[in-house]
Amino acid sequence: MAILLPILAVATVVIIKKRSSIYFPLLLAFGAATLLKVALVLHEYFPTKYFKYIFIGVLLLVVGRLLVHFIRTIAFPKTQWLVKQYREAYERFLCPVCEYPIRIGPRRFLFWTRRTVNKMIVPTEQGNQEEAYTCPACGSELFGECSACHKVRHVMLPHCSHCGVGNDVSAS
Ligand SMILES: [Zn+2]
Ligand SMILES: [Zn+2]
Repeated sequence: MAILLPILAVATVVIIKKRSSIYFPLLLAFGAATLLKVALVLHEYFPTKYFKYIFIGVLLLVVGRLLVHFIRTIAFPKTQWLVKQYREAYERFLCPVCEYPIRIGPRRFLFWTRRTVNKMIVPTEQGNQEEAYTCPACGSELFGECSACHKVRHVMLPHCSHCGVGNDVSAS
């Protein structure tokens, strides 16, 4: 018991600290195994009657915590991560949703992919005007009117490039 409790404490701290790491499932498995071992040891020392209550209590806590986690994941998708994905897609002139090229302005008659976007030669065109644009492949609105300044803005990025007004990316 004296050995197990410190291990459990360390596992808990590590899990809480590294919760966004890609190795999180691994740590979670380690934590669960330690918890199980603690439960088994407890089982040896305490009468079954009390053990049952402790076990049910712990189980309720764990399930409750997991539910809260999943609900929050669904309600608030990782906005930071989404914005990063969208930004990189716009940088390559690709639809952030389906990667179909955003064919506007001088790129109207070109075709490219993630790999070829830097190699293509874009014809120079003077005075090209910004216009609203919807991805023809998936129907996502990529450029649209800003609700504040009524100029054309990136619909899937957090701010208008003309007036800087923000929008809620997670809602789109
Ligand atoms: Zn698309
Ligand atoms: Zn604006």
